[in-house]
Amino acid sequence: MSDEKFDIAVIGAGFGGVYAAHRFREASLSVVGIDGASGFGGTWYHNTYPGSRVDTDSVDMYSYLFSREIYEGWVWRERYATAQELMEHINWVADKLDVRRLFRFDTWLREAQWSPENGRWHLETDKGDVISCRFLVMCTGNLSEPKPVPFPGLDRFKGEWYTSNRWPHREISFKNKRVAIVGTGASGVQAVPVVAQDASHLFVFQRTAHYAVPARNGPHNIELQRKIAANLADYKESVLARATLPTGQEDRKKALEYTPDERRARMEKQWAYGGHGMAYVFEDIGTNYESNEIAAEFVRKKIREQVRDPEIAEKLCPDYPLGTRRLILEIDYYDCFNRDNVTLVDVKCNPIEEITETGILTRDGTLYPVDIIIFALGFKAFLGAIDKAGVINEKGQTPRDIWARGPRTVFGLMTPGFPNLFHTTNAGSPSVLGPLIVQNEFHCDWIADCIAHMEREGYATVEATDEGADIWSGKSAAVSENMIRRQVDNYMVHVNADDGSRIFQPWGAGMSTYVPEVRAMTARNYEGFAFKSPPAQ
Ligand SMILES: Cc1cc2nc3c(=O)[nH]c(=O)nc-3n(C[C@H](O)[C@H](O)[C@H](O)COP(=O)(O)OP(=O)(O)OC[C@H]3O[C@@H](n4cnc5c(N)ncnc54)[C@H](O)[C@@H]3O)c2cc1C
Repeated sequence: MSDEKFDIAVIGAGFGGVYAAHRFREASLSVVGIDGASGFGGTWYHNTYPGSRVDTDSVDMYSYLFSREIYEGWVWRERYATAQELMEHINWVADKLDVRRLFRFDTWLREAQWSPENGRWHLETDKGDVISCRFLVMCTGNLSEPKPVPFPGLDRFKGEWYTSNRWPHREISFKNKRVAIVGTGASGVQAVPVVAQDASHLFVFQRTAHYAVPARNGPHNIELQRKIAANLADYKESVLARATLPTGQEDRKKALEYTPDERRARMEKQWAYGGHGMAYVFEDIGTNYESNEIAAEFVRKKIREQVRDPEIAEKLCPDYPLGTRRLILEIDYYDCFNRDNVTLVDVKCNPIEEITETGILTRDGTLYPVDIIIFALGFKAFLGAIDKAGVINEKGQTPRDIWARGPRTVFGLMTPGFPNLFHTTNAGSPSVLGPLIVQNEFHCDWIADCIAHMEREGYATVEATDEGADIWSGKSAAVSENMIRRQVDNYMVHVNADDGSRIFQPWGAGMSTYVPEVRAMTARNYEGFAFKSPPAQ
């Protein structure tokens, strides 16, 4: 079959895909971009649910840092940008970089097959595009493929239902409606206070109580933006040299090295400042259960202070170590449970049995009658989108086959057995534990440099080796060896059923250790990778 030919295909038009398309075109490669969404935004395009916004500060942790013109040309409206503003921003960036014309939207990649005969990836989309390319770059995101709704009976439901991670791009009114939000992870916690304002009644279905700390949203810090812009390249390098630490935690000590008063003062200061710092407030919070419990109990006490009904407050208090699942930032979440129109439904002991024509039925026989259901159930993290894209190597294997016992990559960027296939910000890199825009920049720069190296040396393919994946898995395991969060079940931990071994999937020690490792192995003549020349004609 005749196909369209490109040097490189970029799948995904989020922050990663937009930078990738720009970076590769600047490297004189012919680029095609593909996204199933109808426009730019990536996961933000799909996640415009009420209250959706970032939970890392936009000014220093959630901005592109590769171009001063772009960095200082956009003044964020708030400390934490909303999904709507992120969409506006990324469209503005795409036009500034003139990459819009490289992308095809409303187009899902459904099959990608490596052909060793001609050293190309062969792609097919649901729109019937047939494309071949030398390099395939999956900027498909680590939190973009929705988990399915698991409850029976949904097809019978006579009301409206939505998922937070495929939110429709039209106005949805909750006025005078009885609404259910199922799921109290980051998205549910963001949506609850916004929906509660309009709904006649809101039922919040909680399976696991999570730690949510104040975001302290507020105005954008323009002074900081100017300061960063003045030395942007240095600032970017400092982010790449940073542990997973939010600003303000650099001088921390172990919990027991403070006096009780000092400890309390430190936690109060962090509480007042808001943000992720609470999960990093002591040096040993991630490795020492006793230290962790001090901070965990501090947060629980704050929850009890905010929620008037002690029984409800207790149900909202988490029982796992703080920061072992992603800490949630909240704006008026706990206060909602003091409202007459909000009911917390605890589905841990009393799970959802089914969806009926009129509402949600729990195991004890209670029917919660609602007009609208919002499912906020999270994502198939890391490989979810790549599974769906139908990526297959010459042996008919998928990346998940290779990852059967946990992520098997070099740098989180390439999987052995998949030549010329890159997956940015995936497990094996800091991924969801680091600032994702700058990680995408770092990865796309690495890919562009690697391709330039191949052009200079006359190579046709690059592939992560098995030996390289062994080395990288060993390094990754070592940095997360003592982390408490490796012992707590959550989407970041891969557990092997046969021997119970627990693999922490992201690189657990932040950019400060990751970036030097990547640079050192690359400088050692691309240790962990094998290059091949084209077959002789
Ligand atoms: C609600 C929410 C809040 C977040 N907050 C933060 C935060 O505060 N800080 C932070 O650093 N990160 C945050 N993240 C993580 C976020 O995923 C990244 O910040 C960033 O958006 C990732 O960009 P990306 O380009 O790598 O991938 P994504 O933005 O995930 O984009 C992937 C794109 O690939 C497309 N795609 C997938 N499969 C296919 C296919 N087969 N064919 C065609 N297209 C496909 C999807 O449609 C999507 O548009 C948040 C994520 C969510 C959902």
